[in-house]
Amino acid sequence: MGDLNLVQHATYSPTWCMACKSDTGPFIDTRIEEVTINTAHGAEIFTGHVYICSSCVTQMAHLIGCIVPEEARKLHDERGELLFRVQILEDELADARDNKVVSREDFKVWLGETVKADAELKAKPGRPRKSAE
Ligand SMILES: [Zn+2]
Repeated sequence: MGDLNLVQHATYSPTWCMACKSDTGPFIDTRIEEVTINTAHGAEIFTGHVYICSSCVTQMAHLIGCIVPEEARKLHDERGELLFRVQILEDELADARDNKVVSREDFKVWLGETVKADAELKAKPGRPRKSAE
């Protein structure tokens, strides 16, 4: 088989898709120009171009695990949205770091030490009391 070629119209006989008989392009021209077909009258050699329409190629590609153009576009769009979201999160993270925001674990340690120090202060005898004026 020679190189495959994309054509908009099937210009050589039989001017249709070998798989589904559609005459609507675009087609892959397989450049296969001679096919032996068994008929009621015996084997006959067919000469012409073997075309496969884009719909059949898409179905074939999908069957072997390729993504079709519609799926590729959807994945491309989703990728763009995710990259945008990652950028927002990275910007928020950089802002949080710049503002000296503490991590949740550091905050728990700080809170525990504060509660402990407050309890120790309250337990001390003779600690100054606030007046209720
Ligand atoms: Zn077809």
